[in-house]
Amino acid sequence: MTAFNPYEAPKAPLYVAPTRVELDGDCWREGAVLVVRAECKLPPRCIKCNAPAVEPIKHRGYYWHTPAWYVLILLNLLIYAVVAAMVRKHTRVSAGLCERHLRRRRIGLGIAWASVPLGMTLMFMGVDMERGWLILAGALLMLGLLIGGVAMARILMPSHIGPVYARFKGCGQAFLATLPTYVGGR
Ligand SMILES: [Zn+2]
Repeated sequence: MTAFNPYEAPKAPLYVAPTRVELDGDCWREGAVLVVRAECKLPPRCIKCNAPAVEPIKHRGYYWHTPAWYVLILLNLLIYAVVAAMVRKHTRVSAGLCERHLRRRRIGLGIAWASVPLGMTLMFMGVDMERGWLILAGALLMLGLLIGGVAMARILMPSHIGPVYARFKGCGQAFLATLPTYVGGR
């Protein structure tokens, strides 16, 4: 029998703390946020209302950068555009929409595209008729339709894109409720 030696080297391998919890699957929820691995194909259901999705589901690219870069817009729009193109992160996700939400997206895209010619027409009419209020109404109409159309058309809004995981807002509760809860990693 050997005496206990507190100074001998440990026989068991040293415990290595996990730096990232590896998870099964590739999509989870974290509150109201969707968490996915890169190249994730979400279940074939509408991410807004959980109804069956229209097939085939498009594999769409999403870009994101740290919001702090938006400060450059105040400096110069062109500088911002160049920097944003360099620092932005990219990922791709297949997110389904049902018939109803796909139609809503197409209407939103149509409104966004129509915003510029409609607004410009009113503004030119205002210039032609020398009516300041008509020019202002045209500018407001253009901005309003553009913002409203984009809001109707957007599918997922990236809130963070990291090297492994990406986070998105824009999913409905009914869809999120079917996903497992995200418990770790980055
Ligand atoms: Zn839907």
